[in-house]
Amino acid sequence: LVNAIATQIGVTLIQAEAYANLQDLNEQLEALDRTRSNLVAITGHELRTPLSTIQVCLESLATEPDMSLELRQVMLSTALQDAERMRKLVQDFLTLSQLESGRIEWNLEPLDLSECVELALSHVRARNRGGNLPQIHNFINTEIPLIQADGEWLVEVLAKLLDNACKFTPVEGEVSIRVRSNNIDSLEVTISDTGRGIEPNRLETVFDRFYQEEGALRRSTGGTGLGLAICRQILKGWGGQIWAESEGKNQGSKFHFTVPIFLEKIPRQTQENQSS
Ligand code: ADP
Repeated sequence: LVNAIATQIGVTLIQAEAYANLQDLNEQLEALDRTRSNLVAITGHELRTPLSTIQVCLESLATEPDMSLELRQVMLSTALQDAERMRKLVQDFLTLSQLESGRIEWNLEPLDLSECVELALSHVRARNRGGNLPQIHNFINTEIPLIQADGEWLVEVLAKLLDNACKFTPVEGEVSIRVRSNNIDSLEVTISDTGRGIEPNRLETVFDRFYQEEGALRRSTGGTGLGLAICRQILKGWGGQIWAESEGKNQGSKFHFTVPIFLEKIPRQTQENQSS
């Protein structure tokens, strides 16, 4: 009888546990569904706004033949700007989805970080041709160990962080890039600026999709709010981390990320030779 009761208690406990797990799973699925709905709503909103502007501009151009040449130019360039914004949004959104799905095949290889930084800097300068940039100081020398990363994606991360640093720093300000050895197997890259800074309670939120400090700023800075989320996903792909640091408004910002050092494997034979 005791055995039977014990078995019954065991079965009841297993059932209760299974029920709790099922409830957990249900809650997780509901949370996932809420995230998906939010994402669809946000993406829809982000795309609808520039699309409406394009429509208004084109309608005015089509229906007002007496519009001044000056106003025509304004309408056209506004429509073009918003079309470009939509293109960037779709492109960034697709990149992020691709990264989040885990379907990217990383091409990890030994790389010279200073070369990657130079390449990223040339992209940033090319994108800002004609525009004034704050002074950029590159403190990375060539005597650092090789890193193990996917060069194309690493240059994306560097260029994005440098772009942001320049975007949120006045031309009289400064942007710097440094590297230090974090531990034996990774380097820590830091991009710092003397710009508008980040409130301490926003240091984590800036990595959320579509986070931008204020709506009005969006147009002037031309971003999509997806750049930092993309950087985090890329680095996560190789076990790297990224985080932000700032003392607050107008105190500048620092973005740090880690990247693994290339660890040369000593062939087995050589090890044996060395020990003999
Ligand atoms: P965006 O395309 O808007 O730049 P990001 O994901 O790159 O999108 O950045 C998200 C937000 O984080 C920015 O809109 C800005 O509010 C804040 N941010 C990013 N980098 C900096 C920086 N260097 N200084 C101050 N704020 C920053």
